[in-house]
Amino acid sequence: MGFFYRHNIHPYTECLKRQQTLEAYSKTIDLRVIYQESYDLEDFIRGIAYREANRCEYCYHERLRSTALVAKRGKFDYFTTTLLYSKHQKHDTLKSIGQAIGKSVGVTFLYQDFRPGWKQGVTESKRLGMYRQNYCGCIYSEKEKFFR
Ligand code: SF4
Repeated sequence: MGFFYRHNIHPYTECLKRQQTLEAYSKTIDLRVIYQESYDLEDFIRGIAYREANRCEYCYHERLRSTALVAKRGKFDYFTTTLLYSKHQKHDTLKSIGQAIGKSVGVTFLYQDFRPGWKQGVTESKRLGMYRQNYCGCIYSEKEKFFR
């Protein structure tokens, strides 16, 4: 079961592009996905204001906590995150935040280093002609990528 978290993906049109890509792909592999209905960009930005340099820790925490709560409600045995697949994320920080949230919410965090599959994932998404994101997600990461 997948879970698509939306508050950190800006602007909204980018969020929709990513969501629609997953919606199309998940059908081809029979993956059920829960999509967040709300889009609380404002609250996400408020949570980061004045600590932009450390924003990813806040973001990881919010995303993993939401995932864990969905897993708890749905009586799932584990929860994990596709962030563990990325070579661009702070892998060890994700692991420790995931484990701490798992303990506090009461669902086991499934840790695995998915990074060995990185190259295969890139190749496969290109082969399938998928939309591929050009930046991490938030407006801050978009600026870092494109502002010169
Ligand atoms: S750069 Fe990525 S992980 Fe960090 S706050 Fe932005 S969306 Fe979240």
